[in-house]
Amino acid sequence: MKKAKLALKTDAAHKTTIQIGSATVGGKDLFVVGGPCAVESREQMEAVASQIVTAPVQALRGGVYKPRTSPYDFQGLGLEGLEILAAVRDRYGLPVITEVMAISQIDDIVAHADVLQVGSRNMQNFDLLKALGEIDKPILLKRGLAATLEEFVMAAEYILSHGNPNVMLCERGIRSFDTYTRNVLDLGAVVALKQITHLPVLVDPSHAAGKNELVAGLARAAVAAGADGLLVECHPEPEKSVSDARQALSLNEMVDLVQSIRPIATAVNRCVPAGVATVPRLSLV
Ligand code: PEP
Ligand code: MN
Repeated sequence: MKKAKLALKTDAAHKTTIQIGSATVGGKDLFVVGGPCAVESREQMEAVASQIVTAPVQALRGGVYKPRTSPYDFQGLGLEGLEILAAVRDRYGLPVITEVMAISQIDDIVAHADVLQVGSRNMQNFDLLKALGEIDKPILLKRGLAATLEEFVMAAEYILSHGNPNVMLCERGIRSFDTYTRNVLDLGAVVALKQITHLPVLVDPSHAAGKNELVAGLARAAVAAGADGLLVECHPEPEKSVSDARQALSLNEMVDLVQSIRPIATAVNRCVPAGVATVPRLSLV
């Protein structure tokens, strides 16, 4: 491992906690983020937020600048999507997380969102990382599709060394030979990163699995492995999702997932913040 002066632990007890809304990420409480791959409409985001706030989740996700494999696919709502995120955040009191793909998007995102996500494809976009070091909002840095842990930690080091101490790492699966799962969730990386860095480590089981029926099991495994939180894709009508439809959970499945990690969290001395006792079921028919 190259000498990361800021990202590595100085002693076993060294840990960074990050305040996001009313949540403290990296403390005893798990930080669960839910929401669609992409912001599609105000109605969609209202439906998501109103249901999953009861799960409870601690933050809402939704991409408005989307890194799509094909330039002909939906690229995101851009500024209109940011305005939807900000409106829904204000209405439900949920902090929002959205992806930044370019330096030119930073100001608009900072004005509307609470956390800026760096996607896998940009993990080593060093100019972007340096620019994110100069802002005062937390960064969720996703592991590159084929990045080593050294490369991942050094990418975080770019942000830290440019002045932003609030970086969360996110393992989202790495590419391998088997296409049954979209990626391979590297839980060894989660355990290792928790040992060597003081930064919170989140897990995104959705992009790792690529299939919605695998997501909850991977989420539970991630909590057991010591993850500080989860980033999970869900949608009011998963099959109609404009991107990543196959891996999206329904809103009821999202609520059930949060409930199902509770005993795992307790077993590893973590906590899922309490939700409302009765969860209203959303009916779309
Ligand atoms: C996403 O979170 O929707 C996303 C594009 O993730 P990743 O960068 O991990 O592929
Ligand atoms: Mn996605």
